[in-house]
Amino acid sequence: MPPQAYDIVIVGGGPAGLAAGLYAARGRRKTLLLERGVTGGQIALTELVENYPGVPSVNGFDLAQAMLKQAESYGLETQSAAVTALERKGKRWLVRTTEGEYVTNAVIVTAGADYNRLGVPGEERLIGRGVSYCATCDAAFFKGQHVAVVGGGDAAIDEGLFTTRYADRVTAIHRRDRLRAGAILQERAFANPKMEFVWNTVVTEILGDETVTGVRLHNRQTGEDSAMDVAAVFIFIGQHPNTDFLRGLVSMDEGGHVLVNEWMETELPGLYAAGDARQNAARQVVTSAGDGATAAIAAERYLSSNFAAYE
Ligand SMILES: Cc1cc2nc3c(=O)[nH]c(=O)nc-3n(C[C@H](O)[C@H](O)[C@H](O)COP(=O)(O)OP(=O)(O)OC[C@H]3O[C@@H](n4cnc5c(N)ncnc54)[C@H](O)[C@@H]3O)c2cc1C
Repeated sequence: MPPQAYDIVIVGGGPAGLAAGLYAARGRRKTLLLERGVTGGQIALTELVENYPGVPSVNGFDLAQAMLKQAESYGLETQSAAVTALERKGKRWLVRTTEGEYVTNAVIVTAGADYNRLGVPGEERLIGRGVSYCATCDAAFFKGQHVAVVGGGDAAIDEGLFTTRYADRVTAIHRRDRLRAGAILQERAFANPKMEFVWNTVVTEILGDETVTGVRLHNRQTGEDSAMDVAAVFIFIGQHPNTDFLRGLVSMDEGGHVLVNEWMETELPGLYAAGDARQNAARQVVTSAGDGATAAIAAERYLSSNFAAYE
């Protein structure tokens, strides 16, 4: 049986993919969205989203379901499958997945990113309940409290400083004896009276039943174990975009984020990348949705100029 054919295939069902799906389907393009896990991507993990314009406060999973329903109402098709490879076939694309193959005239990659985890007990269980990988998203929930930030790079210190707008006390826990963050960020962090530092130390467990209540620590230099009461743990030890299936096909930065122009176009015809998977993304729901919409508009223009109707 020949592979099913589409105008546009979208890889990933987070905010970027769902927005792309809405625009593409509403543009009357035969569109398929492929998602390997839970629709909603990172947002499906989030208890509350409070910075999506026009929606004062919403559960992340519910917001994703609303986006999906809206896109499906215009004819977006969805399929549960992981994309394993893309291949250029003449002027079309072959999309290989764990569930079969599809042919399409354009592909929008919105495969997002996974945050690096500490891999310690308590972490998975307490995600969204005090364990966070995004201070911009979650710091406001911890007004007047003591929180921990894990990591020593730019993201950890930048997000740690942001967290001091809400928390009374922010303890940065770093496994080395100095920060990797840029000099100006370091100066600001050391000058901030709400920030304090615990050096040469790793988190070995995140404590709490319903919500985070503390962390267990291990000092790598002295071998000492200790515990610290905190209401939240913000973890910034890097993230990795889900772009392995594109390696060798398109240009990426060192971290594996796809290089695109302002229309989300890669250097290959009919191939777009949007949201957290692309370079220089702002990594928010609203910006990812905006990226997805931009990519779908660009794809629509490409299809109109390069393919006859129903081709
Ligand atoms: C805990 C947490 C809380 C957050 N809170 C907020 C907040 O309050 N406000 C805010 O604006 N932002 C928040 N963010 C950030 C926001 O969720 C992300 O910026 C946004 O989800 C990125 O959207 P995306 O569509 O680009 O990627 P993602 O949300 O990462 O979605 C990508 C999707 O692609 C799928 N996928 C990956 N590879 C494949 C493949 N090969 N085949 C098929 N499917 C694939 C994944 O399973 C995933 O569902 C939060 C992030 C986290 C982790």
